[in-house]
Amino acid sequence: MPIYEYKHKKKPDKCKDPFEVIASIKDEALSECPRCGQQVERVLSAFTGKVNIFADSNLKEKGFTKLVKDNVNGGYRKV
Ligand SMILES: [Zn+2]
Repeated sequence: MPIYEYKHKKKPDKCKDPFEVIASIKDEALSECPRCGQQVERVLSAFTGKVNIFADSNLKEKGFTKLVKDNVNGGYRKV
């Protein structure tokens, strides 16, 4: 089961941010926090399972770009 990571769009948020949701891959992404009801957005997170599809070598083979959190400006940057 994949683990999705969400963060609140507005600050400050009442909940501990970010929070993780384990969901079926068929489930739609949450748009509201289940606890406080504020708008949330999904962020890239690790997947469970035998194969780490986010390993750098696998990403390049599959044509994905890896985004790494940039602590300087709080955003994400490509690597
Ligand atoms: Zn919340």
